[in-house]
Amino acid sequence: MPFDYIIVGAGITGITAAEELSNVLNKKVLLIDKRSHIGGNCYDYINQEGTLIHKYGPHILHTDSDEVYDYLSLFTLWNIYNHKVLYKIQDTLVPVPFNLISIDKCLSNESENIKNALLDQYEVNSKIPIKELKNSSNEYLRLLGNFIYDNVFLKDFKKQYGLNEEEIEEFIDKMLPFNLSYDCRYYKDNHQVVPAHGYTNMFENMLSSHNITILLEKDYHEILSIDYENKKIFYEDKEFKGHLIFTGMIDEFFNYRYGELPYRSLILLNEDLDDVIFQENATIHYPDEYHFTKITEFKYLTGQQTFNTTIQFEFPTEYDINNEEQNIPYYPIDLEKNMALYKKYLKLSEEYENVTFIGRLAEYRLLQMDELVKKVLDLINNKFANL
Ligand SMILES: Cc1cc2nc3c(=O)[nH]c(=O)nc-3n(C[C@H](O)[C@H](O)[C@H](O)COP(=O)(O)OP(=O)(O)OC[C@H]3O[C@@H](n4cnc5c(N)ncnc54)[C@H](O)[C@@H]3O)c2cc1C
Repeated sequence: MPFDYIIVGAGITGITAAEELSNVLNKKVLLIDKRSHIGGNCYDYINQEGTLIHKYGPHILHTDSDEVYDYLSLFTLWNIYNHKVLYKIQDTLVPVPFNLISIDKCLSNESENIKNALLDQYEVNSKIPIKELKNSSNEYLRLLGNFIYDNVFLKDFKKQYGLNEEEIEEFIDKMLPFNLSYDCRYYKDNHQVVPAHGYTNMFENMLSSHNITILLEKDYHEILSIDYENKKIFYEDKEFKGHLIFTGMIDEFFNYRYGELPYRSLILLNEDLDDVIFQENATIHYPDEYHFTKITEFKYLTGQQTFNTTIQFEFPTEYDINNEEQNIPYYPIDLEKNMALYKKYLKLSEEYENVTFIGRLAEYRLLQMDELVKKVLDLINNKFANL
């Protein structure tokens, strides 16, 4: 058998695993992906106008982990970029997560009362859960909590995920908290960057080892088969004795035995403009108007200095495996009933000794890039290094 490891999926999870296995453990790795490019949803490319585009939506590496940052820095230089997000609420552009500036922008009549109530109860720089504000005994804090809930999260989640109000309630603990500060950054992590020459360039550097074979435009079903009864993997009809790292959809691996895990998909439309700048911020959300949720202007993220610009509209849509426009599983929908279904697949997966399920599709969680890199580094150092 020519390979010690087969990795399904050349996203950031599969690529990090391939890099570490090949360079640190000197293992032979086969990395396969059904798409025509590496990088998974972090893939970027230069379009015909010369603009660097994030094909599957804007991606910012944000992390407090020096380990992750130092590791990825081996493969790229960075453009330092502190992401900010504005929401158009009642004709005003408002920073989200909500902070003291956001209060001035949309609740100016009660601004002083709200700020005094906040400062009476909380330390400066506190992050206050929306649920806590909504349930507060103080009328001004309740006003603030309800305003944010109704105008940002309720509308955004309805549009983004197509959920009803009862379902949205389930997400309340995960909603971005109110920040008691004037800090308008979306993320608060120490490191906030994008690769200076793009993610794809960084990934190419990670995959330069001669120990790695990459097969693109190859669905794993074409070369792998699974004996569900004996929990064995076959590669080109021979039993594979190495280890499989699976970063695809866990329900697909088990042939949808318990049914499909629900996802939300996106249609992303890019528009090239002759203007130097289109909008005043990298990302602006429109919870009230239009079918799209947001517009992103890439040059803010990438730091490109050009006389033209490219923007991307993000239209949320149903996930439909049979429709070419809607068959990318972007967002797992983290509702209790879906997690219960996922747990059934997780239980099945634990029976496979030589398969590791890792990544946002295999774990059915919207994990951020830094979390996945950290998981893979831990896995290689703690598990595979000792095999
Ligand atoms: C719109 C959007 C914006 C985001 N922005 C950020 C951000 O700013 N910062 C951040 O840290 N994270 C962000 N994320 C999350 C980030 O995209 C994920 O953390 C990351 O892409 C997950 O990497 P992965 O390798 O696990 O999965 P993926 O990138 O999805 O890679 C999985 C790969 O498996 C392949 N595959 C699937 N099935 C098969 C099959 N049958 N055969 C062969 N190959 C298969 C797929 O083609 C894919 O390339 C964002 C996510 C979305 C949806």
